[in-house]
Amino acid sequence: MMPIRRRNCSWTVGASVRRMKTWLLAGAVVLVVGSLRMTAQPQAAAQSQAAQPQATDATLRGLIEAKNIGEYMRLMAARPHHLGSPYGKENADWILARFKEWGWDARIESYDVLFPTPKERVLELLGPTPFKASLEEPAIAADPTSAQKSEQLPPFNAYSVDGDVTGPLIYVNYGRPSDYQELERRGISVKGAIVIARYGQSWRGIKPKVAAERGAIGCLIYSDPRDDGFYVDGVFPDGPMRNRDGVQRGSVMDMPTYPGDPLTPNIGATTGAKRLDIKAVTTLTKIPVLPISYGDAQPLLMALGGPVAPADWRGALPITYRIGPGTARVHLKLAFDWSLKRANNVIARLAGSTYPDEWIVRGNHHDAWVNGAQDPGSGMSAELEEARAIGELVKRGWRPKRTIVYAAWDGEEQGLLGSTEWVEDHEQELREKAAIYINTDGNGRGFLNAGGSHALEALVNGVARDIEDPETKSSVWRRMQARAITSTAPGLRAEVRARADLRIGALGSGSDYSPFLQHAGIPSLNLSFGGLDESDGIYHSIYDDYFHFTKFLDTDFAYGRALAQTVGTLVIRLAESDVLPFQFTHLADTAQTYVRELQALLKERQDEVRERNRQIEDGVFASIADRRRPLTAPAIEDMPPALNFAPLENAANALTRAADRYRKALEAARSKVTPESARAVNVRLIQSERQLTDPAGLPRRPWYRHLLYAPGYYTGYAVKTMPGVREAIEEKNYAEADTEIVRVARALEREKALLDAASADLERIR
Ligand SMILES: [Zn+2]
Repeated sequence: MMPIRRRNCSWTVGASVRRMKTWLLAGAVVLVVGSLRMTAQPQAAAQSQAAQPQATDATLRGLIEAKNIGEYMRLMAARPHHLGSPYGKENADWILARFKEWGWDARIESYDVLFPTPKERVLELLGPTPFKASLEEPAIAADPTSAQKSEQLPPFNAYSVDGDVTGPLIYVNYGRPSDYQELERRGISVKGAIVIARYGQSWRGIKPKVAAERGAIGCLIYSDPRDDGFYVDGVFPDGPMRNRDGVQRGSVMDMPTYPGDPLTPNIGATTGAKRLDIKAVTTLTKIPVLPISYGDAQPLLMALGGPVAPADWRGALPITYRIGPGTARVHLKLAFDWSLKRANNVIARLAGSTYPDEWIVRGNHHDAWVNGAQDPGSGMSAELEEARAIGELVKRGWRPKRTIVYAAWDGEEQGLLGSTEWVEDHEQELREKAAIYINTDGNGRGFLNAGGSHALEALVNGVARDIEDPETKSSVWRRMQARAITSTAPGLRAEVRARADLRIGALGSGSDYSPFLQHAGIPSLNLSFGGLDESDGIYHSIYDDYFHFTKFLDTDFAYGRALAQTVGTLVIRLAESDVLPFQFTHLADTAQTYVRELQALLKERQDEVRERNRQIEDGVFASIADRRRPLTAPAIEDMPPALNFAPLENAANALTRAADRYRKALEAARSKVTPESARAVNVRLIQSERQLTDPAGLPRRPWYRHLLYAPGYYTGYAVKTMPGVREAIEEKNYAEADTEIVRVARALEREKALLDAASADLERIR
């Protein structure tokens, strides 16, 4: 619940916090003290506790078993199960059977989606020291599932185009726009070249996108050991990190334009759906792209000539990192099978008793790149254990007031295919009925990470206060706050200590919440534990399997249990409360924060341009230049103009007042609401997130309709808040920034009007 690296599944970047080595010891001490206290508890207190009926969510938490979670993972990760594979279908059928066994009304809903799989992959270095890349991850004797060769997809990037290209090689660091600016200052162009970028810092799909915009003809992406290999910790199988042959597979679809099946934007990929001609698809790459290991990358990097790479471009290989080009040329040839594959979503329902037309939707994907124990098994098996426990509550006589829908998505790894097609297919019904979507994906050991709609911030804080952290035995919330205190900028510490609730992050993209939140405007949450273990080292490789997970990650599934308890508690509270437990004061507070951030961003840009222009005019760049390593001076830039933020400030202030009124109205009415009066308020609340969307969508990407949260067009998974305004400022498109300010202000005004109407409903209750 803070602006800390969140682990997102398909588009994750960056390393995690170092492993905490002392926890086993500390945990053991706490356990002993805990059991002493249990035996010393006075008889009477124990009896009075037993006599009180336990809250449903507390009963549910008691039903969640870590060993079940481990068993589901072992079964689902037993064989490779990517989209369209035999074991992927077996898993969907197995999940379906479990839901039915546990009393849910379940079925499979399928879509036919474009998923290219590799037919031919060649990468070679031509010239004086020729080298042919292996492009393979070898089996490891200690790791029993790593040898399942016949069912594994080899390393590749999905939605790369076919291609056969030969050219000089240029090293482009992480392949971000800012990296190309550094190249330009050195007079190096990638036009007609193949670029080699390292994984990390931006979502992988951005790397070929930016490379193609600059005229490159091919793109290689490799895992540098500095980011997820031996520089971080020991390598697999001795340690958790990526070994010399490990490769990160992954999608390079242009997801910031639209996710889901490339052939059917905005509609479900049903059998009879009208599909785009493949030539009309805008989300495929423009150039061929291939991911490689550092074993395969090292000979290529060693063949580079040209200037030495800047210090922060250098990785951990024992070589001199150069930018290139060299005398050697690189040949890259890729061909794919472009057939449709079948995505099988499992959808399970429990009908609500009082508000059957108000839905709580919860999901995790079941498909993996290969065996996928961590991603997605660790989240999927927690979801299944929740479903079993909720089924058990129903067998004991409990009924949810609202309808609960549990989903296991297929085809997430390719670009959120299963969830996006389902949302697009059922959009009308979801817009009427879906009150919330709760997502999980890969899970790990450590701190609760929560991101999502800020109307849900108070709800998720309340739940975190009631979940016990498996290692410290304090609340999950207490541990989150401790991390926030130690990791936040000093100026924000006082707020972390004093604010009733911890702030939750905004969602960009990277997992199945995107279509719910950013396309359909359904309030969403994404939850996981993590930060203490190293799951980056096997991410999207054949080594993300049960052997690795039980050796290095959440080995006893204690955090799988904590995740199931967290989400299960959320679902029960959402299913039982009469008025939906949304709280808008935090949304208003967050909107105010975003407005201040945008104002600061503009000022920062103005200061930066003013200072740089002055330096250029004063001849500073010429004076510091090294004649042996020439850098061109930047060009004089126009000053960013003043923008009129008044509409946004006024709207945010009005929203703050309306949110406060709603909070007071709900407080006063809470004990008096009947199902009928609650229903009237809920009908409005279900539309509350929708007010923040615009059917016209974001500039140049209409699929994304949320005006507060979107994945960055040039960051790919990291969120851009108030993206229309923020990206217009970043891209120096100031006329557009002005129009977008007005559009976001109108959205806040719509939200204010809805809250005023809901407050009036509540104030009428006597
Ligand atoms: Zn995942």
